[in-house]
Amino acid sequence: MKIDNSIAAIVTGAASGLGEATARALAAKGAKVAIFDMNAERGEEVAQELGGAFCHADVTDEASVDAAFAKARETHGQERILVNCAGIAPVGKIVKRDRETGALSHLPLGKFAGAININLVGTFLCCAKSAEGMMALDPLDEHGERGCIVNTASVAAEDGQIGQIAYAASKAGVKGMTLPMARDLMGEGIRVNAILPGIFGTPMLAGLPEKAQAALAEAVPFPKRLGDPAEYASLVCFIAETGYFNGECVRLDGAIRMPP
Ligand code: NAD
Repeated sequence: MKIDNSIAAIVTGAASGLGEATARALAAKGAKVAIFDMNAERGEEVAQELGGAFCHADVTDEASVDAAFAKARETHGQERILVNCAGIAPVGKIVKRDRETGALSHLPLGKFAGAININLVGTFLCCAKSAEGMMALDPLDEHGERGCIVNTASVAAEDGQIGQIAYAASKAGVKGMTLPMARDLMGEGIRVNAILPGIFGTPMLAGLPEKAQAALAEAVPFPKRLGDPAEYASLVCFIAETGYFNGECVRLDGAIRMPP
């Protein structure tokens, strides 16, 4: 689809990092962007700057998600684009490769279920709510495209590290449900894809000491740096604009393959 001011988009987790960069890129193309996030202060700031709408949402809570979709649609109309970026990551553990605290015996059920709930259930919930609304739209073109969903998984879906049991499981779930969702929605003209980011320079990593960030950058084969959130955002725009792109899970990672 062509992204312009006739297109309404929703980006979850858009108060920060990859989601914020994506909201900026979509707004730069003219889209009307709704910022879904739990962080109201930062979410409002981003929305104001982009002339978008902030919709408070906890993606794990159905009532909160319903209220956010209702507000976004009231403000901008039914969205054609949904980008799921809301999520959490156990970054410290990846860097320390701490065999003790990263161990299965140190992973309480609550922590495991929490990661699954935010990263996987939250993504599922937003996909389901958005697809329901998109189905009622008129097609945009002669091929029947109505909308496009982009999920954010992680390279951990394929090579999870010590300390990433819950995170890797949640992201493998996001990756795993993307193709069946695309197949489920193909008759409705809705494309579903996922991006598996490697290591990106977002606030999720900002808490790490510089030395640790440099070590992560050094682990990337080429280019030897962290991913720029703007690069993630351009891939989202490319996917939304490329009607033939469907049912894919693509890595965006500088060819990183983490050693165990
Ligand atoms: P970030 O911490 O900068 O942003 C995440 C945003 O999600 C925050 O604004 C936070 O408030 C929001 N959020 C968290 N839980 C929420 C909830 N329950 N409901 C609504 N909003 C919620 O992180 P980021 O680096 O931009 O990560 C975005 C996504 O990309 C996450 O799913 C993360 O797992 C994934 N990812 C990031 C990296 C990376 O290197 N940064 C790598 C692979 C995957």
